[in-house]
Amino acid sequence: MAQAKLLEVQDLKVAFRTGRTAWREVVHGLSFDVNPGETVALVGESGSGKSVTAMSVLGLLPKSTTRTSGRIAMEGRDLLTAGGEALRAIRGREVSMVFQEPMTSLNPVMTCGRQIAESLEIHRGLDRRQAAAEAHLMLDRVRIPDAARRFQEYPHSLSGGMRQRVMIAMALTCNPKLLIADEPTTALDVTIQAQILDLIAELQREEGMSVLFITHDMGVVAEIADRTVVMQRGNLIETAATSEIFATPREAYTRALLSAAP
Ligand code: ADP
Ligand code: MG
Repeated sequence: MAQAKLLEVQDLKVAFRTGRTAWREVVHGLSFDVNPGETVALVGESGSGKSVTAMSVLGLLPKSTTRTSGRIAMEGRDLLTAGGEALRAIRGREVSMVFQEPMTSLNPVMTCGRQIAESLEIHRGLDRRQAAAEAHLMLDRVRIPDAARRFQEYPHSLSGGMRQRVMIAMALTCNPKLLIADEPTTALDVTIQAQILDLIAELQREEGMSVLFITHDMGVVAEIADRTVVMQRGNLIETAATSEIFATPREAYTRALLSAAP
């Protein structure tokens, strides 16, 4: 029997409310999978629906202004139709997300160490002391130098790259099977970008987790992804092994993305 898909997205359609009865569809029937242990890149220009797709997987879009249809399943369990409790369990523990700007998702008045520790208390049921010890290890694990000192620092006193490492540590506190990284390096300068990419690739290998990596940068895709899904204006353009996408892109849009890459 074929191995179960980790994430299956089938015929996903997402529309936003634009008036009392008016809707604007921005994802028009997208289908792709992520296999266990695989890194898949979701690429396309700004506005193609990449973030909306990620938010749908995480159930982060507001129900009252969003209409979602199709199928999103983790290991065969449907996330769109699952009941609230079951859904929270899957989304809270099995899928984590790292965003472009970590400042918006870190608490500015809590030290980085405490935030990670608190997340460990919630997700792993550790007591305060165990969680603090584990949080130190996690800061080491995301290669934060001088982790003991950083533990006591507040997010604003760290550089962008360090903050993104803290966010990655936060995302790993639930031991996710799938990490969704939505343009996690876009706001960073090029050398720091490369370091964060290396870190994600390294963690992916060590933890055996899957990664859905969202970017508009084909250079990043070449570096990190086993497989690539190309999107344009809410539609799937093509999907193939990354090496194939680079060697023999079938669609003009993909060729344009490739020639725009630095
Ligand atoms: P990408 O991440 O590929 O740059 P997005 O997924 O953010 O693109 O956006 C896809 C489209 O959906 C865009 O046209 C954007 O304006 C629209 N959009 C995104 N979020 C919302 C929202 N909350 N309400 C209405 N429209 C939205
Ligand atoms: Mg986006």
